[in-house]
Amino acid sequence: MQSYHMTPRQFREYGKELIDWIADYYENIEQYPVLSQVKPGEIFNSIPETAPEKGEDFQSMMQDVDKLIMPGITHWQSPSFFAYFPANTSFPAILGDMLSSGLGVQGMIWATSPAATELETRVMDWLVQAMGLPGHFHSSSTGGGVIQDTASTAALTAVVAARERITSFASNARGIEDKLVAYVSTQTHSSLEKAIKIAGIGLENLRLIDVDGDLAMQPGKLHEQIESDRKARYKPFFVCATIGTTSSNAIDPIRIIGEICKKENLWLHVDGAMSGSALICPEFRKVADGLELADSFIFNPHKWMFTNFDCDCFWVADRKHLIRTFSILPEYLKNKATESGAVIDYRDWHIQLGRRFRALKLWFVVRHYGTDGLRHHIRYHVELAQQFADWIRKSRHFELVVEPPFNLVCFRLKGTDEQNMELMNRINQSGKIYFTHTKLFGQIVLRMSIAQTHTTSEHVDKARSILQEEADKLMNV
Ligand code: PLP
Repeated sequence: MQSYHMTPRQFREYGKELIDWIADYYENIEQYPVLSQVKPGEIFNSIPETAPEKGEDFQSMMQDVDKLIMPGITHWQSPSFFAYFPANTSFPAILGDMLSSGLGVQGMIWATSPAATELETRVMDWLVQAMGLPGHFHSSSTGGGVIQDTASTAALTAVVAARERITSFASNARGIEDKLVAYVSTQTHSSLEKAIKIAGIGLENLRLIDVDGDLAMQPGKLHEQIESDRKARYKPFFVCATIGTTSSNAIDPIRIIGEICKKENLWLHVDGAMSGSALICPEFRKVADGLELADSFIFNPHKWMFTNFDCDCFWVADRKHLIRTFSILPEYLKNKATESGAVIDYRDWHIQLGRRFRALKLWFVVRHYGTDGLRHHIRYHVELAQQFADWIRKSRHFELVVEPPFNLVCFRLKGTDEQNMELMNRINQSGKIYFTHTKLFGQIVLRMSIAQTHTTSEHVDKARSILQEEADKLMNV
């Protein structure tokens, strides 16, 4: 029979070459400009307009990777990548992901690969213990954890489950009949705005609560807004508090917000997308004080726990709300294990049906590093960021904008917004390091996010010298 498939022998050969290629990439990553230097359309125009009719060999594909693709890569895994929040990875995570691809499992229900479900439950329970999370998130209690693709999807999942809880599951059946209203702070990640739109709540029914001088949500203002909404016959149902906001790493007061939520019967979702990883270190757990009052909590190992994208850990305090909201059972998915009630079918814990075996890469990471190793590297990043913040404090040209709780330093050149943008753009265009900006207190602020897997003090020192040199030039010293 004619076959175009790659044979196991070829796969073995090319697979080894590819591993070598990836290892070489990491060994030489510092030779690339961190921010891709291509112009819009350059990559698109360099790729043929039509798909090849005749299959091509692996070597020619890899030549094109080097020639066409690599110039268009921004090197997120470079130790000089300080932009946004990281999407860090590690070799054990890459191996786990390869294994998941190799097994090609689609773990939508327990029966379609019991190991995919049961490993996920176990690893999520491990993290509950290792990160000191509240016991109700553990699968042996009322709740449990599930791996989602992103924090955005998890936020939407939480909003929809909260919507169903407050309407006694009537909105799934009849559509939304109540004037539901949700609360976030002015600093909450935009994924919540998106979730509110998609869940049919309507952006006009999302209240942005003011923050204090540390950019944390003001619970007093939240309470006032809830009262005024109730008077206007709205039905408050959902609050999102954040441990580590995107712009400045601000920490919302979870306990006070949680007490308001309990009293008012609102779903509290806590977003720890990046900074949640810090909870692996006992000394950082005070930021999560009151988490036992949350209905759901997320963090992204794909940001700061060395697990390559995508991997979001989502826990709920009471899994029955989630399952009742998302449960479907078409004939073709019926099976004895599901009917017995003895297994978890994760398709009922999120939006999509199909699911990758993501737990493998997280399992590899936790087993490779051990919780000690994870703590070591997270602490090191925090230490590097704190040293960088000290340098900013003492610097002639720069000032700190907020006190950095962990690994994100927000600072600015003591000059105009234009000068700050000019400084950042010049440095980023040089390709030596890459960092990004935000706006805080109405001003442009520069952000250095120090959390890339392989960043060391050498890289932070290099960043400091570059900043110093460009600032001297800009300020004409
Ligand atoms: N929440 C916070 C605090 C974030 O910083 C981000 C992204 O940086 C998100 C949510 C969205 O993350 P994801 O890309 O996993 O949807």
